[in-house]
Amino acid sequence: ANANKQSLKVGLIPGDGIGVEVIPAAKEAILALGSDIPKPEFVDLAAGFEHFTRHGTALPDETVQIMKEECDCALFGAVSSPTRKVVGYSSPIVALRKVLDLYANVRPVISVAADSSQKPAVDLVVVRENTECLYVKQEELKFTENGKEARATRLITERASRHIGQMAFEIAKGRPRKHVTIIHKSNVLSVTDGLFRETVREVPTLPELAGKYDDVTIAEQIVDSAVYRLFREPQIYDVMVAPNLYGDILSDAAAALVGSLGLVPSVNAGDKFIMGEPVHGSAPDIVGQNIANPLASIRSAALMLRFLGYTKGAERIDRAVEEVVREGRELTPDLGGKGTTTGVTEAVLKKI
Ligand code: ATP
Ligand code: MG
Repeated sequence: ANANKQSLKVGLIPGDGIGVEVIPAAKEAILALGSDIPKPEFVDLAAGFEHFTRHGTALPDETVQIMKEECDCALFGAVSSPTRKVVGYSSPIVALRKVLDLYANVRPVISVAADSSQKPAVDLVVVRENTECLYVKQEELKFTENGKEARATRLITERASRHIGQMAFEIAKGRPRKHVTIIHKSNVLSVTDGLFRETVREVPTLPELAGKYDDVTIAEQIVDSAVYRLFREPQIYDVMVAPNLYGDILSDAAAALVGSLGLVPSVNAGDKFIMGEPVHGSAPDIVGQNIANPLASIRSAALMLRFLGYTKGAERIDRAVEEVVREGRELTPDLGGKGTTTGVTEAVLKKI
């Protein structure tokens, strides 16, 4: 839809922690593409826990308004999440996914083979539902005769499951293996996960999609056994589609298989907006040391461009990242190197 535009307006929300260190790297990668994409314009936007502690809001109205009214897309870094409940604070990323209707979180996990003629050992995409499941965050605490009792609501709707299912089939259709695995736990949660599984399974049979996904094969798997198989034989997976929480856990697990969370990109995708976001969080343990791996964010920029239709630009970035990892001369400590955030960024920019 954006392919004929004169300029590309990108909202930048570095957020907290290493988000502030890695989002500038993604911006530089986009700038390095030159005329492969419309002239990029960047706008810095505030959000996060840090902003909350200083100004009393984690997601300023202005940030949402500018994203909705001016931006073509956005890049989000990370927000730190306090493990204890802080009065008045709720996660801006969860809110943003809702207000922009970014119903899918798409997380390609691909390993870099030792030489470019070999196939990567892991090449899969986790398609994670992004708006419901336990993330509706309706929790309650009761005090009973037997002590405290806590409950959480888990929401699964037909609408969101159909949406995410269609996204998964669409992505699978564009990949060589064209295979979708539905991840669920309907042996225990027969109502909620049962609805998810049935609805996703039915997507290819919907009248308006008839015939569209005939070449896509479908399998399904219980989430625990999927984690086990993922570690033993990751090559059996192509597109894994899952409710929100399972998708989150699966993609962190898959990230371990390719060497580091610092390599795995994602986009939050809806029908109207795309927001790139590295899969990792704010990484408080390594913040401020210039050692955060910028490659997940750089790849997130590429993935965002891909979703906007700028395939050539996306491929240039992806190839540059792949070469830097393959050569192994300039890598951050999470990948066993002695390099820095800025050093790795420079190496990628040179390749682009
Ligand atoms: P959050 O609550 O923000 O998710 P976290 O403590 O869970 O914070 P993550 O960012 O999820 O931290 O990271 C998990 C682990 O992976 C940490 O040890 C972190 O240092 C490491 N890690 C994450 N991202 C990167 C990166 N880009 N480069 C290097 N290490 C990373
Ligand atoms: Mg985390």
